Amino acid sequence: MSATKNPTQLEDLRHSCAHLLAAAVMDLWPSTKRAIGPAIENGFYFDFEFENSISAEDFSKIEQKMHEIVKTWDSFELQKLSAAEAKADYPDNPYKHELIDEFSEGGTKPVSFYKSGNYRDLCKGGHIDNPKEALKHFKLLSVAGAYWRGNEKNTMLTRIYGTCFPSRDELKSYLTMLEEAKKRDHRKLGTDLDLFVFSDLVGKGLPLFTPRGALLRELLNEFSQELRLNVGFERVWIPHITKKELYQTSGHWDKFGDELFLVESQETNDELVMKPMNCPHHQQIYASRMRSYKELPIKYLETTTIYRDEKAGELLGLSRVRSVTQDDSHTFCTPEQIPLVYQELIEIVKKFYDALGMKYRARLSFKDPAQSEKYLGEESLWQLAQDTILDIAQKNKLDYYVAEGEAAFYGPKIDFMVSDALGREWQLATPQLDFVQPKRFGLTYTNAEGKEQTPVMIHFALMGSLERFLSVYIEHTAGIFPAWLAPTQVAIIPISESEHDYAQQIYSEMKQENLRAVVDYDNKTLSAKIRHWTLQKVPYLCIIGQKESQNKTLSLRSRDGKDLGIMSLYEFIKENKTHFEKPI
Ligand SMILES: [Zn+2]
Ligand SMILES: [Zn+2]
Repeated sequence: MSATKNPTQLEDLRHSCAHLLAAAVMDLWPSTKRAIGPAIENGFYFDFEFENSISAEDFSKIEQKMHEIVKTWDSFELQKLSAAEAKADYPDNPYKHELIDEFSEGGTKPVSFYKSGNYRDLCKGGHIDNPKEALKHFKLLSVAGAYWRGNEKNTMLTRIYGTCFPSRDELKSYLTMLEEAKKRDHRKLGTDLDLFVFSDLVGKGLPLFTPRGALLRELLNEFSQELRLNVGFERVWIPHITKKELYQTSGHWDKFGDELFLVESQETNDELVMKPMNCPHHQQIYASRMRSYKELPIKYLETTTIYRDEKAGELLGLSRVRSVTQDDSHTFCTPEQIPLVYQELIEIVKKFYDALGMKYRARLSFKDPAQSEKYLGEESLWQLAQDTILDIAQKNKLDYYVAEGEAAFYGPKIDFMVSDALGREWQLATPQLDFVQPKRFGLTYTNAEGKEQTPVMIHFALMGSLERFLSVYIEHTAGIFPAWLAPTQVAIIPISESEHDYAQQIYSEMKQENLRAVVDYDNKTLSAKIRHWTLQKVPYLCIIGQKESQNKTLSLRSRDGKDLGIMSLYEFIKENKTHFEKPI
């Protein structure tokens, strides 16, 4: 969500609002201990240690106090204090004392405070000039527990989240969006539509997919894979545990550190880990024999799960999990083949996201020219790759922008920023060039002159993480999946028992036509049944009464309550055939 044209300004506004929140809290509950209050994406928070706990019911009281206090705030005035003076402002506050020791480098340097009205706080800066006029359109949103410095060994503080906008309208539309997002929350829809569950016995961040959820997942995965199989990708398969040495060679051991799950072998001395990535394995398949330029590009495809030991506090529904399934692929090619391969991948992204009705922008993530030393790989290769990416973005008429400094140290990439129905942007597909890993693993091919060369590798997952993609897609559609993806496509509803035989016959015929149908034999009223299947967001309701049974017809209804008329099964299938099929 971009609320204003200048993100720094918005950040300053929100951080200033965090000051105001703390001022109000200190006024209402003077014994409270303050910690920190930064601006974050979409708002701000402030961490406190309260003497008595507070709840969302206190928000209106706090907000009222904030409106009152801000009237006396003309500016944020910088004050320099010695460490001792600073600490005196916070009696018995270990959090501030820790920060003061840090900022003053052990008491040797003064620290900065910002004062507005009668309130001041330790702060490094980043405020608006005119709090009295600008800090008006804010709202406190939620309260949660948060460990001091995010460390589970520390005290649990109370975090109050809020947001602030430059205008009333912007605040209002943001709050409306939040309301809508709450209704579409994929965790709620996941339960309502019976798509996935969690079990305490299985563990946190380890989702289990029900038959309906697994079907949805597999249909999306099939679509994603088919687009690549069509352009010459081949499936491979790798195991989920690996010797530690593989990741030491690839460099992932240092990169992932404490995010790795370690596995102990009772039979060998091998130190094993659950794989946090698939690339090194796929490279070992490439490296299993000599390769000639004639074989390239070599394209491997695999949907497989990786494991990352995320912090418990950061796990969230399907958005953040510990078992992450990637619809991954790796292409090995010559530098000359980069344009061709990249063009194929861009077309795949377009087909996939267009078919799902999701808009996207392309962020061309290039190196920061001022910090060339940060990046590995030959300069000429970088130049070629970045020129190619820019050229392809233009040729394909992508809505793109260049982001210098966003490249990985091992190569440039395009990040597809996909926006959902609520206007939120998500980084999903990312064709990523890699000049470094093939060298680390000593991958080669023989060129036309018989010389050994290093191939370029392109990492590419279309959905990225299936779990995260599903969280976005479920919220984007609000669970109203297109017919080809709906776990149940047709609900057959006989009005009374005398139509059960005909309903069963229709069901069998639909099954033969590969439609996913259910028959509702329940003894409830027709309107209760219609309500149930409408809430389940089944695309077609097929109602069978005496007349339909006699005439061998169906009375069709859509999930949004539209009467689609009476027709034969043959007509129904013929008319809706394209809706039931994958959109390629
Ligand atoms: Zn500040
Ligand atoms: Zn990869």
